[in-house]
Amino acid sequence: MASWIEKDNAYVWHPFTQMKTAPLPLEVVAAKDTCFYTATGEKYIDINSSWWVNVHGHGNEYIGKALSEQFSKIDHTIFADATHHKAIELAERVCQKLPETFQKVFFSDNGSTAVEVALKMIVQYWYNQGIHKPKILALDGAYHGDTFGAMSVGQRGGFNTPFEPYFFDVDFLDFPTAENEQLILENARLKMESGEVGCLIIEPLVQGSAGMRMYRAEWLDALVRLAHAFDVKVIFDEVMTGWGRTGKLFAMNHCEEVPDIVCLSKGLTGGTLPLGLTVATLEIYNAFLSDKKANALLHGHSFTGNSLACACACASLDLFEQQKTWDNVKRIEGWNQRLMGKLEKHPAIFNTRMTGTILAIELRQQEGTSYYSAIRDEIVAHFLENGIFIRPLGNVFFFNPPYCISDEELRQVEDVTMCFLEKIIEM
Ligand SMILES: *Cc1c(COP(=O)(O)O)cnc(C)c1O
Repeated sequence: MASWIEKDNAYVWHPFTQMKTAPLPLEVVAAKDTCFYTATGEKYIDINSSWWVNVHGHGNEYIGKALSEQFSKIDHTIFADATHHKAIELAERVCQKLPETFQKVFFSDNGSTAVEVALKMIVQYWYNQGIHKPKILALDGAYHGDTFGAMSVGQRGGFNTPFEPYFFDVDFLDFPTAENEQLILENARLKMESGEVGCLIIEPLVQGSAGMRMYRAEWLDALVRLAHAFDVKVIFDEVMTGWGRTGKLFAMNHCEEVPDIVCLSKGLTGGTLPLGLTVATLEIYNAFLSDKKANALLHGHSFTGNSLACACACASLDLFEQQKTWDNVKRIEGWNQRLMGKLEKHPAIFNTRMTGTILAIELRQQEGTSYYSAIRDEIVAHFLENGIFIRPLGNVFFFNPPYCISDEELRQVEDVTMCFLEKIIEM
């Protein structure tokens, strides 16, 4: 009889994977708290929270209870002409946690669709008013998901080259660094002065897929102020930065300015079920109210507002209302700070950076930063050998663990990291 892995190889097409050359995937048979358990009896720390989603740890019993209770009530309902209590509860509670201008929640299934919806909201916001502001601004290096609209506002080249002819036009601003912050704001102003820019989309404070690239909240505030001065609507894609990752519930809590739309997903359900939210201000929403049906937001997905996902998200919100969660976030932040200090002058490292519970280590290397860089596979192998499951982005590896990670596990991650850095100096 074929093994599970043989059958995986026979039938499964994995995401972001060159199926011809990729090493065999880890055969996970159980996941609990910070760890994966495999068919061969090994245990691995899931240091990147299963693609950055699993904020409370695997198999969280509180969320599990909410899920099974909800299943016994409602599995799923259509969400047009029908509604249910968990979606209503979630919408109300999410609005209460965001700045008070956020008042309307649109449900979808994942981060990419949350972004698609946000873009469509703004395009139609202008359309419904008969205002011509067709241009969209995004940040160089952006990642907003893998559907066509989301790809269009993301980094060109790399992953998306075959599809580029089909993307809509987007103007990209350079990524802000200490040297060019002011210049980029000037460029942004020049673009906005045309009056044609209707939308700015940005990952606040941390660009995830670009390699956990970080920039200052003050700069983002200046950009948002500028956008609003030229009546440009602003989308914060908080799909990755939301739910405590940056040390606060949302990255925007580090800022003074407030966007017009926020996209949420990933940690929203505690990383248990797929769900996306696009939350808008009343001003955006009001532009869709009309006696004409065609002015409505005519968008939806079969699983919009899924009741099980909403129940998990409400349970996750309960956990964010517990002090323990925030104590853990602080604890990881403290560990990041200490490890960053320790690594500061390490000869193998080009740059170490952190925001909240994210610590990124960028290795020095000749080839430059690239998703395909060879050192990536060495990082993966070294960490796997030492009981840690990691997915670096090229020569950048980073830790964004479930918040329940223990001090002992953090020490293990630190030891394995130090050992790897010594190893590559010798290479
Ligand atoms: C992961 C991610 C997305 C896409 O979310 P999916 O659920 O994978 O579709 C969008 N934006 C950001 C910032 C992300 O990190």
